[in-house]
Amino acid sequence: MKNILVIGSTGQIGSELTAELRARYGGANVVAGYIPGAEPKGELAESGPSAIADVTNAEQLASIVKEHHIDTIYNLAALLSVVAEQKPRLAWKIGIDGLWNVLEVARENNCAVFTPSSIGSFGPNTPHELTPQDTIQRPKTIYGVSKVTTELLSDYYHTKYGVDTRSVRFPGLISYVTPPGGGTTDYAVDIFYAAVRGEKFVCPIAEGTRMDMMYMPDALRAAIELMEADPAKLIHRNGFNVTAMSFPPEKIFAEIKKRCPDFEMEYQVDPLKQAIAESWPDSLDDTAAREEWGWRPNFGIGAMTRDMLEKLSARLLDK
Ligand code: NAD
Repeated sequence: MKNILVIGSTGQIGSELTAELRARYGGANVVAGYIPGAEPKGELAESGPSAIADVTNAEQLASIVKEHHIDTIYNLAALLSVVAEQKPRLAWKIGIDGLWNVLEVARENNCAVFTPSSIGSFGPNTPHELTPQDTIQRPKTIYGVSKVTTELLSDYYHTKYGVDTRSVRFPGLISYVTPPGGGTTDYAVDIFYAAVRGEKFVCPIAEGTRMDMMYMPDALRAAIELMEADPAKLIHRNGFNVTAMSFPPEKIFAEIKKRCPDFEMEYQVDPLKQAIAESWPDSLDDTAAREEWGWRPNFGIGAMTRDMLEKLSARLLDK
């Protein structure tokens, strides 16, 4: 039996990961950590315990871990790439000072820790095609700098103190439950909201700019399956390349238009987002994840688009 704390449980990933973990391990065994102003609502609030868990407050984390006998922490607290560029010091405080608190509490209480890295941990001089697992990581954004640091600090706590740290480098995540929090790949979610609402989509990323993406059900499985993997088989730890698809804006537009023939899109490229997008890989090589813990995505672009349109339409109709 696991006792799990999800830090950042009300964000794009956390809101769905907490529900999935509760379905697997029992509602009472998964604590939804949140910060004031981002409280759990609805099903998330009702399906299990919750607690204020601010990563910048080490004592608060320690008391939750002790009170709930936590043995596994999913640490999702971060500022995403575009927001972080506007608030670099805060991004570091949450992403790295906060991570340090999480790792310390994990060391003292023998917890396993999952802290996501990102395709943002790569930079302009990383090989862009089939980006290898082990390669050059010299990102130019504060988001990227903090993700590389996240990987290194998590590895350090594993080798120095034996803390069971594991992570994946998530690509852009596409989902319909909670909107994304200010990343470079948000357009791949926003385009579905425009299509379902019957609006023209204004795309901030230029035609031809490919980035890796993944549908949320695959992302949840990646996180949970990695945390359940046999440690003896893990050569890498923080973090594994994982991907499910890679596309430029015109490809996802064409895929949606097959099902929404009147849908229209125009480009108004945002220079900040475009510069970040161009510095990231075009496609990741996730062989290490496949070999070391059996990673396989279930959703390609066609299946994801079908499911997204269906589920998002139902959700928006409900409101
Ligand atoms: P999000 O912005 O939707 O959610 C972040 C959560 O962190 C929010 O619930 C927020 O309330 C919480 N938070 C903020 N400050 C906090 C603090 N001081 N203490 C505790 N919690 C705090 O982000 P997300 O998309 O769910 O991302 C989660 C993780 O996954 C992040 O590390 C992110 O970098 C990574 N990631 C996300 C994507 C993506 O496409 N969504 C891709 C790659 C990596």
